[in-house]
This record gives sequence, C-alpha cells and structure tokens, in this order.
Amino acid sequence: MVNLSILGSTGSIGKSTLDVVKKHPSSFKVIALAVKNNIKDLEKQARVFRPKLVSVWDQVKSEQLKRCLKGTKIKVLSGENGLLNVATIENSDRVVFALSGTQGLGALLEAIRNKKDIAIANKELIVIAGHIIKKAILKYNVKFVPIDSEHSAIFQCLEGNKRKYLKRIIITASGGPFIDCTKRQLEKVKLKDALNHPRWKMGKKITIDSATMMNKGLEVIEASHLYDININNIDVVIHRESIIHSLVELIDGSLMAQLSMTDMRFPIIYALTYPERIATKFSRPDLVNTGKLSFEAPNFKKFPCLGLAYSAGKTGCTMPIVLNAANEIAVDSFLHKKVSFLKIPSIIKAVMKKHPVKKIYSSEDIYKIDSWARGEALKLCLA
Ligand code: MG
Repeated sequence: MVNLSILGSTGSIGKSTLDVVKKHPSSFKVIALAVKNNIKDLEKQARVFRPKLVSVWDQVKSEQLKRCLKGTKIKVLSGENGLLNVATIENSDRVVFALSGTQGLGALLEAIRNKKDIAIANKELIVIAGHIIKKAILKYNVKFVPIDSEHSAIFQCLEGNKRKYLKRIIITASGGPFIDCTKRQLEKVKLKDALNHPRWKMGKKITIDSATMMNKGLEVIEASHLYDININNIDVVIHRESIIHSLVELIDGSLMAQLSMTDMRFPIIYALTYPERIATKFSRPDLVNTGKLSFEAPNFKKFPCLGLAYSAGKTGCTMPIVLNAANEIAVDSFLHKKVSFLKIPSIIKAVMKKHPVKKIYSSEDIYKIDSWARGEALKLCLA
C-alpha cells in the first residue's frame, strides 16, 4: 500500500491520479490533497477518498470548505502553510506534484528534505529550478519520477541501461492542433481552436503550450535536467499518432522506445509504483489497427516557441526562468483574449532579449528573475 499526497488534485493530472487510486484501492491510499481554489471538486474528492488533510490556496475558499466538511475528521488548511503540510505530511510515501505553472517550488524542496519520493507532472518547476532540485534529490536520496508522458517514456527506456550508454534523446510530439496550418492561418487562430488538442485532453495552459509547441520546448529543457544530457543531444520529432511517447539512442546505435495508449494514467501509475509495476486493465495499443506510425521533422519557422526554448536551454542559468515566466504571462493573456496567438512567441522573444543572464544560487534568485520577467511580459501584453 502506497500512501499518497496530491498537490493539484482537481486539475487534469490530479483527477487521473485519483482515478488510478479508485481502480486500485488495495495498492494506494490518499492521505492529503491540495488545490488552488476549486473547493467544489475538492469537497467531492474529500468525501470519496477520506484524506486526513486538505488544503486550499485561497484563504476565503478554505474557510468555506471548512464549513462544508464540518462533522468529518478532515483537517482543512490554506496558503503556503497548507501546501507545505500536504507535501510533508507524516506517513505519506509519495507526493504527486500536479500543480499548474511554477507554484509549489518551496513545497517540492520541502517534500524532498522530508525524504518523500516524488512523482512530478509540473515541468515548469524542473525548467526553472532543475539544478537546485537535482542537488536536493541527491542529498536526500529520494526517488524522483516524471509523470510527463515523454519523460516517463525516457525514464522507462533507460531502466536497465547505464547512463553512460545514453547518446541522444528523441522526444516525440503530436504537433498540436495547428501542425498543418500555414503561417497566414496561424495569424487568425481563435482561442477555441487552440484549446482543441487532437490527441490529449489536458488543462488550458498546457493545451495552449502544445498549440505553440512551447510545451515541447519546455520538455527539451526538462529532459536535459532529468537525464543530465546536453540540449544539443535532444531532438524533437513529430509523431502524430502519439503511440511512441519518446525514444533514447544508446551509444551502440540502438534505439529504445516506449509505447502505450494516449492516456496519462500510464505514466501516472508508473510514477506511483516505480520501481515496481502493477497489473492494469487499461487498453493496449492495437498495432495492426494503427497500421502505420509516422515521423516528421518539426517546423521551427512556423513554431518559433520551440526554437526559443532550445535557445534558452542552451544559454542556461536564468534564461529558462525568463522563457517560462514570459510564456505563462503571454499564454494567460491569450486565454483572456488580450493578445493574438502569434503574439505569444514575440512577447517571449522580446523579454528574453532584454534579459541580462545571471547565475542562480538560490530559490530567491529564481523568484526575483521570475517576477522581473512576468512584469516585462505583462507590459508587452498591455501595450
Ligand atoms: Mg508531455
């Protein structure tokens, strides 16, 4: 039995994680949940899974939830303190980080210091604080397993292979909803088109990131941290069927791939059970019916976000923080119909250009650069 804490339980990954728990009640137990402000869903989850503790970022909403859960034994907390308590609660074996964006860095580092094993879906945290997180993982010797499907695939392909044999990583991308659009068509993209991903059902922010291909760019930086590999040795390949979730090339020229259905419950269950596996009834790819798996090179001209991410990753230091912060602001403005789709890369590029690169020594350095970049991006969104 694995005891779980889940940060971000009402988001897309959080809900899929709870579905995995529900289908495997003898393998997992939920003991703490945290959300930003969706108390309606959190209350339902709390009544079904009976955790010891729940936390709501928003203080007013947490007071409301406290009243709703009166009479149960469930403790309700709020804010940073609530998040930290969920991340470090006694007896939890594995903490699932499924918050959106960069919230939760403090909670992640605190969970690692408390020797909790981590299952992480928050790629942004790895992008902005990869070095600091890695240092903590080594120091406290915890398991750190990615939930991002591509990185789970890479992780699985590397199992049983020494790291020194890794030559290259090939990250697959479905290409998103606009893969076949011309540049002119991209100028007229509407919000609802961008939110309509052909393969994956996900939260709004990551769906827009998939449409701009920034998601793939962030994944390249994420992989460079997780697998200690130079960005130049990471390729992106368009694979529309989303059956192969990524590949590794070993020094002898062998490629290893991981295949499964387009269903986040696969990487989730692996991250919850690693180094073990448990049997599931989830459907398997039907190779004969799929018939053909296709591969294409990505178009960096049409999707400039991908190139911006490569460039930020190569520069390193504070640049990935700037890339990520400017992207979050630009995407949020697009979601609120304040800027056009093609404005997203141009805003990010402008903020990156303005940024004097610095070394990072602490989380405080990260927060400082992050808030500077958000401010600069916001000015451009409002201009
Ligand atoms: Mg992914």
